[in-house]
Amino acid sequence: MSDIKLAEAPPGIEGSGFFATSFDKVIGLARSHSLWPLPFATSCCGIEFMATMGSHYDLARFGSERPSFSPRQADMLLVMGTIAKKMGPVLRQVYLQMAEPRWVIAVGACASSGGIFDTYSVLQGIDEIIPVDVYVPGCPPRPEAILTGVLKLQDLVKNESLRRRNEPEYKELMNKYGIQ
Ligand code: SF4
Repeated sequence: MSDIKLAEAPPGIEGSGFFATSFDKVIGLARSHSLWPLPFATSCCGIEFMATMGSHYDLARFGSERPSFSPRQADMLLVMGTIAKKMGPVLRQVYLQMAEPRWVIAVGACASSGGIFDTYSVLQGIDEIIPVDVYVPGCPPRPEAILTGVLKLQDLVKNESLRRRNEPEYKELMNKYGIQ
């Protein structure tokens, strides 16, 4: 009878630990440097985004040179401008049409909190209807601030586990917004 035994895996190799975490890091790095923006611009902050895309500020340096106007082909939704309550369902629909994983940046005071438009017809922040990952302050934020917001999102994406979207906290967040 043969007496062959399988070698024991070194500590840290067994289970999901070593491979899963390293794989997470590689995918996170690749994702964070290839975010495709979907600009949802309704007013003045959108102009700052145009400057951010131009050669001087050059968002392309961070792998986001390819704006998409189809939600199906974008993973970074940038909401810029005043969002009237009537526009809310449209924004939500655009968000829902994006494939997972997807991330949202609220650019400027209006998108983040309603800004100066403290009135019945304006959403007091897009996080009333969709989850937001990064808030960029300013009225309007300068292109440097928008770039900082994108860099913050890159950090978040880099460190996000591939399994995050199956985790109970994430599902709870989606339930809060009524998203399946
Ligand atoms: Fe315009 Fe200021 Fe609102 Fe941006 S935050 S859309 S600049 S009013």
